[in-house]
Amino acid sequence: MNNKVILVVLDGLNLSVARQCLGYLNGLIASQQATLYPLTCELPSLSRPLYECLLTGVPPVASGIVHNQINHRSHHESVFSLASQQGKKTAAAAYHWFSELYNRSPYHPVEDRFTNDPTLNIQHGIFYHWDHYPDEALFLDAEYLRRHYDPDFLLIHPMNIDDAGHHAGLDSAHYRNTARKADMILSDHLPQWMAAGYQILITSDHGMNNDHSHGGTLPEEREVPLLVIGDHFSHQAAQIAQTDICGVICELLGLTHQKSIAGGVLR
Ligand SMILES: [Zn+2]
Repeated sequence: MNNKVILVVLDGLNLSVARQCLGYLNGLIASQQATLYPLTCELPSLSRPLYECLLTGVPPVASGIVHNQINHRSHHESVFSLASQQGKKTAAAAYHWFSELYNRSPYHPVEDRFTNDPTLNIQHGIFYHWDHYPDEALFLDAEYLRRHYDPDFLLIHPMNIDDAGHHAGLDSAHYRNTARKADMILSDHLPQWMAAGYQILITSDHGMNNDHSHGGTLPEEREVPLLVIGDHFSHQAAQIAQTDICGVICELLGLTHQKSIAGGVLR
């Protein structure tokens, strides 16, 4: 059995668009190789606060990361900090805000874009700071990290779906087609990850609205997918909150931790 975990955060992907546009992933669900759990994201439905929520299990009102301009490091134990303290290898191909939350802040592109430092929480990183950085390139960055460093925990965080939503809104061909493109890119990589026995979680931080934004309480801003693949998952009906994802990953990695875990998601 493989205890290695890949977490894919498709930034800004709304649940109903995930159901309609991710043809490959829905094919995996139909063939019982993946299970979809609808999640309601924590508030505010903004990126940096919910990156912190996904990686620490702490909701924004408790973490203090309440908007995107707060760029101090996280004050909480994260999957990255727990894993690296307990001898696991960590990696991320992700937006630079993850480097700021878990490695160092502020982010300096020249020093931090390519990170290789075993003393950091994210030991191996390829970070980007352009919202239009192509998802295709980002997934190749992640695949480079996976093949060269063989991390126990790999975060993959593409931004193009969110960027499309800010340009064209939820109900737009641009937003939906960008989601379809991400699904196609995933279909290039997922079969190898599945064959290697990874435990895989694919989710989103928040959804999107028709005002080309997000941040509030509308269902379309809060409803996001959580798709799980791997033989450590129960693949049965379960109640899971966004704040449980951190604990679920810690369990999968075999870490000692005090995070909450959703009942029934794991075997
Ligand atoms: Zn956004």
